[in-house]
Amino acid sequence: MTERVPTKVNMEKIVSLCRRRGFIFPNSEIYGGLSSCWDYGPLGVELKHNIKQSWWRAMVQERDDMVGLDSSILMHPHVWTASGHLKGFVDPMVECKSCHLRWRGDDLSSVNCPSCGGELTEPRLFNLMFKTFMGPIEEEANIIYLRPETAQGIFVNFQNVVNTTRKRLPFGIAQIGKAFRNEITTGNFIFRSREFEQMEIEFFVKPGTDGEWFEYWLEERLNWYVKLGIKRENLKLRQHTKEELAHYAINCRDINYLFPMGWAELEGIANRGDFDLVQHANSSGKSLNYLDEETKEHIIPYIIEPSAGVDRSALAFLCDAYDEELDKDEIRVLLRLHPSLAPIKVAILPLSRREPLVKLAKQISADLRPHWMVSYDDAQSIGRRYRRQDEIGTPFCTTVDFQSLEDNQVTIRDRDSMNQIRIPISELKNTLQAKLEGEDLFVLPPGGKIWKEEKSPDSP
Ligand code: ATP
Repeated sequence: MTERVPTKVNMEKIVSLCRRRGFIFPNSEIYGGLSSCWDYGPLGVELKHNIKQSWWRAMVQERDDMVGLDSSILMHPHVWTASGHLKGFVDPMVECKSCHLRWRGDDLSSVNCPSCGGELTEPRLFNLMFKTFMGPIEEEANIIYLRPETAQGIFVNFQNVVNTTRKRLPFGIAQIGKAFRNEITTGNFIFRSREFEQMEIEFFVKPGTDGEWFEYWLEERLNWYVKLGIKRENLKLRQHTKEELAHYAINCRDINYLFPMGWAELEGIANRGDFDLVQHANSSGKSLNYLDEETKEHIIPYIIEPSAGVDRSALAFLCDAYDEELDKDEIRVLLRLHPSLAPIKVAILPLSRREPLVKLAKQISADLRPHWMVSYDDAQSIGRRYRRQDEIGTPFCTTVDFQSLEDNQVTIRDRDSMNQIRIPISELKNTLQAKLEGEDLFVLPPGGKIWKEEKSPDSP
C-alpha cells in the first residue's frame, strides 16, 4: 500500500507563511540565527497560548480528577540520577569524516553521510541534557541540568499534591512548561528544536487498572486533536516495539500526525508502571506510598503519561488548517483553524478611512476587545484585507460601511464559506460569540438574517 502524502501543504509554504505573517521567526536572526531555536511572533504567541489554554481547559478545568502544577525548570541533580536520565537519556551520535556534520545514528537509513556521502565514525553515546552551573563557581559539584521533560517535577511533588488536595486514585497532575534537549539533529522547522514546550499529564492509577487507563488516555488524547479540527485520517497510533520502549515504560504508543515530511510523533502515551515513584522513593529515602483507603494497604500507584509537545501541536494545527482554493481567478490561501485556536477572532474592516466611518469602526473594535483578540485593518482594498485575514485564520471579519451609519448594521463575513450576513451592531457581540462557540444555525434578531441560508458573493 502506498503511504498517503499531504496535499497542498508543504513545509516551505508553512515556514514562509509563518514568517511573512508574524507567527514564527528564526531566533536571534539579526546575528545570523541560532540553530533550532525559534521565536513566536505576535500571531504565533496567540496560537500557542490558545493551544495551551484549550489543553488546560479540557484536561484540568473540565475534569474533577486532575489538578495542575508549575514546577521549576531547574531541579536537584539527584532527580536525574534517579530518573535514569543521566545514564539513559542518550542518543547514538555519528560524525562524517569528510564534512564533519553530526547525525543521530539510529535515524540514518544509509551507512554514509546523508549530506556528502562520506564515511561515518562509529556511534558514540551522547547525553541530551543541557548542563549549567548553580551559583558562581563553575565546578563539578555545582552542575545542574535544564529539565529535558516536565514529568519529573510532577513525580517529586506527588506526595505534596496528595497531602494538600486529598485527591484519591485515580487522579492526574498536569503541567505545561519548557523543556530542553541538546538534540543531535534538529530540523523540520519547529518539529524538533532544542528548546520547546511540553503539555504533560501523569495519571496515577491502582496497579491492575493501568491497562484500561492506558486505552482510555489514547482515546481521550486522540479526540482532543480531532475536536480542535485535526482531520482524523491525518492521525494514527503507532505501537512501540519491545526493543524501542524507554527504560521506564511497560507500554507506549505514539499519536503520529501526517506532517508534510511524513508520519511523525505528535504525542507519546506511556504506561510507566511504578518505575518513577519507586526510583524517587529509593533515591530520596522519602516514602512515596499511597494509602488505599478501601483496603488499608499502602500501594505504589502506576502511572499513565500522555506527553504532548506545544510546538509540534502548533505545527500540526497549522499544517492541517492550511488550504488553498480557487476563488475567481486567484488562489485563496486560508488557515481553517478552529475558532478557539485562531490567533485573531474577529477583524474590523472599515470600508473607508473617512470620518465618521472610522469613529464607528474604532468604537466597535474597542467594544469587542475586552472579549477577544481583535484586529483593526483599514489598509488597501476590502478584498485584500479579507485575504490577509483568511491567511492568518481569522474566523470572522466585520465590515463597516457608509450604510452602517444610517441603519446601524454591519456585515459579518465567515472565513470558510465566505458567506455574509448583515446584522444590527447591537447584536454583533452576541452573534460573534455564538458563532465562535460553534453554533450552527440560529435566528438572528429583527433586521438580521438566518446565517445558513445566506449565500452572497464575496463582496462587501
Ligand atoms: P522524538 O523521538 O521525536 O525525539 P521523543 O519520543 O523523544 O520524540 P518524548 O520524550 O516522548 O519525545 O516527548 C514527548 C513529546 O514532547 C513529543 O511527543 C513531542 O511532542 C515533544 N518533543 C520531544 N522532543 C522535542 C523536540 N526536540 N522538539 C519539539 N518537541 C519535542
